[in-house]
Amino acid sequence: MLYQIMTPGPTQVRENVRIARSLPCTNPDLDPNFYTYYRETCQLISSLLHTKNETLILGGEGILGLEAACASLTEPGDPVLVLDNGVFGKGFADFVRIYGGEPYVYSCDYLHTIDVDDLAEFLKKNHDFKYATVVHCDTPSGVLNDISRICPLLKSYGILTVVDSVSAMFGEEVRVDDYQVDLLCGGSQKVVSAPPGLTFVTISPEAWTAMKNRKSPIASFYANLLTFEHYYENQWFPYTMPMSDIKGLRTAFENIEEDSHILSRHAQIAQAVRDALTSCGLTLHTKDGYSNTVTVFNVPSQTTASAILTQLKEEHNLLLAGSFDVLEGQVIRIGHMGENARVEKVSKALKALDTVLRKLGVTLTNDLEQVFLDHFTK
Ligand SMILES: *Cc1c(COP(=O)(O)O)cnc(C)c1O
Repeated sequence: MLYQIMTPGPTQVRENVRIARSLPCTNPDLDPNFYTYYRETCQLISSLLHTKNETLILGGEGILGLEAACASLTEPGDPVLVLDNGVFGKGFADFVRIYGGEPYVYSCDYLHTIDVDDLAEFLKKNHDFKYATVVHCDTPSGVLNDISRICPLLKSYGILTVVDSVSAMFGEEVRVDDYQVDLLCGGSQKVVSAPPGLTFVTISPEAWTAMKNRKSPIASFYANLLTFEHYYENQWFPYTMPMSDIKGLRTAFENIEEDSHILSRHAQIAQAVRDALTSCGLTLHTKDGYSNTVTVFNVPSQTTASAILTQLKEEHNLLLAGSFDVLEGQVIRIGHMGENARVEKVSKALKALDTVLRKLGVTLTNDLEQVFLDHFTK
């Protein structure tokens, strides 16, 4: 039995991506055509992210991209600014510590987007950081941070930026060169809508320089971005590339390239979901900073997260997500990213959610599916 997955990753995978993954294989270490294919795929990703910076695809999940960024930049004793208004935000401090850096955790209210004016005040007095980590959409709460303002602000103090946009990019606008992002991390299984398994990192010239000017070697091999330097000229990869995953990823990016309304589609669907929930009397979890890729609402007092999720799964074949860490049991997350950002899929999910919430004794003051659909028929 196939579940309808409406989680904030992994997302559903289109047939042409699945077919691309089943094409005949080559030896990616020895076949010169594969080096060209890999490089062209990286160039396509860079162009979709509006950057001249080089992109590398790494064989591992999104977490590998975050760790590789921190491993490659951090030297023992380096001061690193960790912007924290969510679970992933705080989590960066662990990667910094593992590689000997000294994180300064700038913690903000988890119910709000990072206040850029407050950050600007803080930086006036405290700006001695080698780099800063920023999460674009902190998926467990869905809070969105304004990287178009945060990254240039940090850069004005010479602070390099590592941005986790795994769950936002292509559902939210990302313009790497305009925003001056030094290391941008993405993943295959969120808006990109390929299966889990790949991460990609876009690297600015300043970030390459910082890696090359290190006094101590990078304390990792698999998470060392420098091992990819000159891979094309030398026809050498640090490890055998998962070529079938990369073929699927390429097709997924070609789908995005052809999808000229991808950002407005995410914006419309997200707005309609938020309106549907609030007009029925449910409350959105954060007070502002809503990502167009995921909507997070508080579990109504009449029931529990596990009761809602179990009924959706068992009676409607639908997977929504709860959350974890400090949000365990408190919220429900509806992913509407990539292939899942389609009116038919979201309305089906809301119809099931409407039925389940009523069965569990929650009073809804409107019809979830109907309010959502009204946005597209008016
Ligand atoms: C999904 C996600 C990642 C990557 O997590 P994996 O479990 O490795 O896929 C990283 N950051 C954010 C914000 C994410 O949503």
